[in-house]
Amino acid sequence: MKTIGLLGGMSWESTASHYRAINDGIRKTLGGLHSAKLCLYSVDFEEIETLQQQGRWDDAGVILARAAQSVEAGGADFLLLCTNTMHKVVPAIEAAISIPLLHIADATAEQLVNDNVSKVGLLGTQFTMAQDFYKGRLTNRYGIDVLVPHEQEQIIVHNIIYSELCMGRVTDESREQYLDIIDQLAIRGAEVIILGCTEIGLLVKPYHTSVSLYDTTTLHAERAVSMALHR
Ligand code: GLU
Repeated sequence: MKTIGLLGGMSWESTASHYRAINDGIRKTLGGLHSAKLCLYSVDFEEIETLQQQGRWDDAGVILARAAQSVEAGGADFLLLCTNTMHKVVPAIEAAISIPLLHIADATAEQLVNDNVSKVGLLGTQFTMAQDFYKGRLTNRYGIDVLVPHEQEQIIVHNIIYSELCMGRVTDESREQYLDIIDQLAIRGAEVIILGCTEIGLLVKPYHTSVSLYDTTTLHAERAVSMALHR
């Protein structure tokens, strides 16, 4: 079994989900007392989030690149960045390490392509929904059309992530707002919804809606398990 490297803490609420999903996957596949060989570096999210707000992405990239080097030095064979948003600085991270990085958008897109999905709705932070580093990868590399919520809805989705989900708060009221926005995306033609923020799966579960949900945390973890065991 290969050793999985996790760069997490963004937020730790969702990194706990990544950690659990990977270990669940190893146990399901190998049985018994098997668990993942894993090396985790968890950052202080307050520092990263402050840099995001200030638009200091290069500085955030330096912090994450150093953390990724620690994960590599700790023995990881490949790296997962446990957040969608911070994939914006993946080039800086990749330049600093020699192990491969399993991109969360690739893990998600491979499943979409496999399922013949060509038009998706994307929920995430406003950075992920409005900028091109994530949507562009889905469209340019995989031919997937990406719909995002209207600006006012993006603000709602974004604020709930940072002021509730990243702090461990899950409320029915916020879930209702998410479900309305999911319905709007489906009405506009989205065949499925990408939960393109690692915390959203804490709030919205498949049984809350008839629209198919592609949870990036789960898909990333599943892909990591198969990389650890097969390739
Ligand atoms: N975990 C979130 C994501 O998947 C948002 C927090 C962050 O800014 O990294 O995008």
